[in-house]
Amino acid sequence: MSAGQPDRIPVMIPWLGEEEAKAASDAVLSGWVAQGPRVAAFERAFAERVGAEHGIAVSSCTTALHLALVALDLGPGDEVIVPSLSFIATANAVRYVGADPVFADVDATTGNLTAATVDAVRTARTKAVLVVHQGGVPADVDALRAACADWDLALVEDAACAIGSTVGGKSVGHGALLAAWSFHPRKVITTGEGGMVTTDDAEWAARLRRLREHGMNASAAERHASSKPVLESYLEVGYNYRMTDVQAAIGLVQLGKLDQIVARRRALAARYDALLRDVPGLTAVRDPEYGQGNFQSYWVLPDRDFPVGRDDLLAVLAEAGVSARRGIMASHLEPAYQGHPAAPLPVTERISRDSLILPLFHTMTEDQQDRVVAVLRRQATAG
Ligand SMILES: *Cc1c(COP(=O)(O)O)cnc(C)c1O
Repeated sequence: MSAGQPDRIPVMIPWLGEEEAKAASDAVLSGWVAQGPRVAAFERAFAERVGAEHGIAVSSCTTALHLALVALDLGPGDEVIVPSLSFIATANAVRYVGADPVFADVDATTGNLTAATVDAVRTARTKAVLVVHQGGVPADVDALRAACADWDLALVEDAACAIGSTVGGKSVGHGALLAAWSFHPRKVITTGEGGMVTTDDAEWAARLRRLREHGMNASAAERHASSKPVLESYLEVGYNYRMTDVQAAIGLVQLGKLDQIVARRRALAARYDALLRDVPGLTAVRDPEYGQGNFQSYWVLPDRDFPVGRDDLLAVLAEAGVSARRGIMASHLEPAYQGHPAAPLPVTERISRDSLILPLFHTMTEDQQDRVVAVLRRQATAG
């Protein structure tokens, strides 16, 4: 919301307030601003919330994905199946370890990989599948886990958008081998920048803790807490992917608001559904049979004969003061992946080319929602 346009409707704003400001201030005044006790508390609370044994806080979901793939010892010659229909960090993480991302197509209603789309691009070099819970719509992980077990592939979950989404009544991340999460302000809860890996495996958890901190066998916090000098050693080449205690302090408050945030997002999504029912030619994202989404992104897909093209629709919305966004990107069409082999990805390309994401944020009013829908209704009947 820029000062010049007070009634502009943003696509997303994080729900932050005095409590987060106070928590950040307390962290600063405590004198401990780098990774410390608040990070440890945030990790415990987050892991408990998603039903995982261990949480390892890091600097972003991108670094979380990188470390998850390092933990699996993936490298040159290995293939990792990913959706092209995702934020580009998903595919990039595979490149960071020197492995090859192999793009698979997605299901038309969820926008997610399925066992069938994975099977279509599987080769003898495939070592892992990196499934994305796109826009908060849970992927069918029960089916994918069973298929990956049959094929002897590791299943890593990019849950950047999916905190608060469920599969079979359980949180996304429950039972995951390795799941990666984001706390970027575009996601459902935020720490400014930040991420997390969750896992049930104690050995991976210990290694991930070392990897995020230069490969050190004793963390800075442990050394600080010890009354005797601790001589650390560096067991492998690691990274500095730490989260700060200031971020974790904010994260703890945000996590406490998660249920409220998800309930509000689901209520606003249901209201969009009702309002859009009499707008012809638009199909909105919805819950799959096996789970519930957090509606991190509320996207709509216009029919092929919708009277206005997607980019024109975005322009008309912008003119009316509505910040909508193009739908999820198709990574294989970006210059960074030019020349990278890819099987035909018709569903990915259709969703990416034609869909748009409508504004949805915790403090959104019914009046704002009505304004968004009114613009769409005028365009739908413009032809
Ligand atoms: C946002 C996002 C990421 C990257 O998250 P950061 O925390 O910004 O690094 C990765 N994957 C998906 C699917 C995302 O939506």
